[in-house]
Amino acid sequence: MSHLMNTYARQPVSFVKGEGVWLYDAEGNRYLDALAGVAVNGLGHAHPKLVKAISEQAAKLIHVSNVYHINEQEQLADKLCEISGMDKVFFCNSGCEANEASIKLARLYGHNKGIKNPEIIVMEKSFHGRTLATLSATGNRKTQAGFEPLVSGFVRVPFDDVEAIKQVAARNPNVVAILVEPVQGEGGINIPHDAKGYLEQLRGICDANGWLLMLDEVQTGIGRTGTWFAFQHTNIVPDVMSLAKGLGSGVPIGACVAKGVAAETFTYGKHGSTFGGNPLATAAGFATLKTIQEDDLRAHAEAMGDIICNGLRSALVGESGVTTIRNAGLMIGIELDRPCGDLVKRALAEKLLINVTADKVVRLLPPLVINQAEAEQLVAILAKLIKQFLNE
Ligand SMILES: *Cc1c(COP(=O)(O)O)cnc(C)c1O
Repeated sequence: MSHLMNTYARQPVSFVKGEGVWLYDAEGNRYLDALAGVAVNGLGHAHPKLVKAISEQAAKLIHVSNVYHINEQEQLADKLCEISGMDKVFFCNSGCEANEASIKLARLYGHNKGIKNPEIIVMEKSFHGRTLATLSATGNRKTQAGFEPLVSGFVRVPFDDVEAIKQVAARNPNVVAILVEPVQGEGGINIPHDAKGYLEQLRGICDANGWLLMLDEVQTGIGRTGTWFAFQHTNIVPDVMSLAKGLGSGVPIGACVAKGVAAETFTYGKHGSTFGGNPLATAAGFATLKTIQEDDLRAHAEAMGDIICNGLRSALVGESGVTTIRNAGLMIGIELDRPCGDLVKRALAEKLLINVTADKVVRLLPPLVINQAEAEQLVAILAKLIKQFLNE
C-alpha cells in the first residue's frame, strides 16, 4: 500500500526519462506528452540548454537566504520586467503562492488607501490554487467544499461579463482589485468572446475606480498563448501578474510581478519566502526565458496551436458531439457534449498523455517545442479516439 496521501487519482503509469515531447516508462514504451506536466514543461523534457544551466548552477550554489543579494534572482527579475514592461518582482515557489502574494498586495494597497475591509473581484469558474485564500478566490465549489470557513473579501461575478463588474463598482466602495485569468485553464479553456476587448475594458474600469488589475497568468504565461504573457495580445499592461508553471520548466518557482504603485506596495517585512527566488530556481527561470527567446518558441507555439486545432477541426468535421474546439496558442480545449473523463485512460492506452477538465473539455497543453510531425501525430491519435468515443 502506498504511503502517499490520497489526493490524486493517478494513471497507472510512471516515467523514467524524457526527451522533447516524449516520455518513456521503465519498459521503454514511448508516450507523446500533450499535457507537459500541466503547462510546466514548455521546453519539453531534458532540454539541453536547461539541463546545462541547472547542472552548472547546482554545482555552484543551490540556495542561500533572501537575507543576502542573489545575482541569479536579480537577473531573472530584470528579464521578467524587460519582457513584461512591468517594474518589480517577488519570487515564491508556486502558482498559489504567487496569487497569495497578489492578494496580500491588493489588501495592503487597500489599507494604504484607508479601506479597512478590502475586497477583490474574482470570477466564476476561475482557478487560483489550493491554499486557503486562493481556494476561496477559486470559482469552483469542489475545490472549496470541506474547507470552510473560507477566507472572506472576495466578490464573485461571471467570467466575461463586464456589466456585472460595473454593477459591483457602482455599489461596493470596498473593492480594491480584480483578479482574473486572461483565459481560464482549469475552468475549461474559457476564452472571453472578445478576449482583447474584455481585458481592455477591465483595465478601464480599474483605472476609473483606482483598482488594481491583477492577472493570473500562471497557466497562460511564458509563451503558451504565442506571446510571453496573454495580456500582450492586447494594448494594456496589468498592475499585478502572477506566474509559475512554465517559468522554471519544472524547477519550482512562482513570481508576483507588479507595476507602478503596486510595485511599491510591499515594503520591508511585509512578505517573504525561505526558498523563493533561490539561485537554482531563478537560474532555471532565466534559462527558460532565454531559450524561448533564442529558439523563437512564442511564434512556434502559435503556429503549432493552429496546426493542431485546424487538424482536429477537419478530422472531426460533422461530429455533432464536438461542441467547440478553441485555443489560445498551445492552450487548447476540445469541448464535447458529454462528460469525457474516460478519454484520458483511452489516450494513455494509445500512448498519448492528455487531460480532461471541467468534465467535458479535453485539454491539451503540449510543450512549446512540439514540432509539426508530432502535432500531426497528436491530432491523428486524438481525433480517432474522440470519434470512437462519440459513436459508441
Ligand atoms: C495551476 C494554477 C494555479 C496554481 O498553481 P500551483 O503551482 O499548483 O499552486 C493558479 N492559477 C492558475 C491559473 C493555474 O493554472
